[in-house]
Amino acid sequence: MKKIYVVGIGPGNEIFMTNEAKTAIQDSDVIVGYDLYVELIKELVSGKTVESTPMKKEVDRCKIALEYALKGQTVSMVCSGDAGVYGMAGIMIEVAQENPEVEIQVVSGITAACSSAAVLGAPLIHDFAIVSLSDLLTPWEKIEKRLRLASDADFVICLYNPSSKKRHDYLKKACEQMLLFKSPDTKCGYVKNIGREGQSYTLCTLQELKDKEVDMFTTVIVGNSQTKVVNGKLVTPRGYHL
Ligand code: SAH
Repeated sequence: MKKIYVVGIGPGNEIFMTNEAKTAIQDSDVIVGYDLYVELIKELVSGKTVESTPMKKEVDRCKIALEYALKGQTVSMVCSGDAGVYGMAGIMIEVAQENPEVEIQVVSGITAACSSAAVLGAPLIHDFAIVSLSDLLTPWEKIEKRLRLASDADFVICLYNPSSKKRHDYLKKACEQMLLFKSPDTKCGYVKNIGREGQSYTLCTLQELKDKEVDMFTTVIVGNSQTKVVNGKLVTPRGYHL
């Protein structure tokens, strides 16, 4: 049988993986993925054929996975977090569309929205939107519009890809859009290196967030109008009377 698992490994190392993800990797002959993620799970993949590729080579990575599968090898394509949230699941299915004999199984993982929320407390208890600030594949105007509309609707907003070397002021620009509808006092938090060495988090207001420098290994959560800080934890109330 020709099979490719597209596996979300969660935010960090093996302890954050689901049993399904672990079993898929154990069942595979070949592991394909971005260097950093393969490194995070190196004990689990030892003895297997490993094809690690640099970032931004996503389509090539899928073609490599497909080639191995067509030769009859079972392949795991690994991604951080969830494979279907800004992950490789969609590209893999598209790249393999002419080869229906290859079974593609997507294996879910803990996405950064959930793992960062757990570090901060309980900010996603009510409706939320996830917006990526990466404009590599999405026009920046569209990103700003989504931020404005989600802010106007008082969603909690979780930001992925909040920065990179070339986009160091994107978080500031995103905050300016959200500040058109959200109060400067809106409670926010961000977590760096979730589940990895050097995990750290910060709580701040939206006004303060505007001037923070964060890196690409950070997930940001901007509260709604009800979000508050309770004993150092970020909480969005569901509305229960205590
Ligand atoms: N598929 C991944 C998301 C990939 S997009 C998932 O479901 O989590 C990459 C962005 O995800 C990063 O820029 C960052 O905002 C967030 N992210 C992923 N892993 C993270 C981690 N361990 N710590 C902090 N942020 C993380």
